[in-house]
Amino acid sequence: MSDILCSKCNETKPGLTEAPFPNEMGQAVLAKTCEDCWQAWVGQQLMLMNEYRLDPMDDEHSSFLDREMIKFLCLH
Ligand SMILES: [Zn+2]
Repeated sequence: MSDILCSKCNETKPGLTEAPFPNEMGQAVLAKTCEDCWQAWVGQQLMLMNEYRLDPMDDEHSSFLDREMIKFLCLH
């Protein structure tokens, strides 16, 4: 596991051990998000899912969560 520069907290810290998704988004998270900020997003995501009653299997809900994740983790 190597340190990465996290775009959320702007610190050089240990990143994830593997991409959380098998796609480009997963690679972006792997390259730019530290473990701590990823855990923060996991909690935030649960909160959003409860608040808006989101179903991750629903395409519209899932792209809403993707957009929120990009904002939250500053992946742009
Ligand atoms: Zn971070």
